[in-house]
Amino acid sequence: MKGNRRRDTRPEVELRRSLHADGIRFRKDFPIRLDGRRPVRADIAFTRQRLAVFVDGCFWHSCPEHGQVPMSNRHYWMPKLRRNAERDRHVDAALSTQGWEVIRVWEHIPPPEASDLVRQRLQELER
Ligand SMILES: [Zn+2]
Repeated sequence: MKGNRRRDTRPEVELRRSLHADGIRFRKDFPIRLDGRRPVRADIAFTRQRLAVFVDGCFWHSCPEHGQVPMSNRHYWMPKLRRNAERDRHVDAALSTQGWEVIRVWEHIPPPEASDLVRQRLQELER
């Protein structure tokens, strides 16, 4: 995912900060090995609960609200962006096969909302 999954984007940093402020511990940029592929790096991972969180950029991951294909070079962007989305689904399925739960948060989601979402899922997994 070189080039299109930037590290430490602002929404990612703010989500981490918000979780951290609540005393929630996690691993950042955590590599998860999948069969026969390069490891996938979860932006935030809870290893005990096996919960992987990805903060997805609206453009690169084709958010339904903001993920517009640029008007110029459409023949270049359309398949590229489609492949990204396919890869995301593939990664989700591979992680799920290995017992990981995946949460994908769009970068446009306000960090407090995103952290609520993660906290809620964590609590459910604790049960
Ligand atoms: Zn968006």
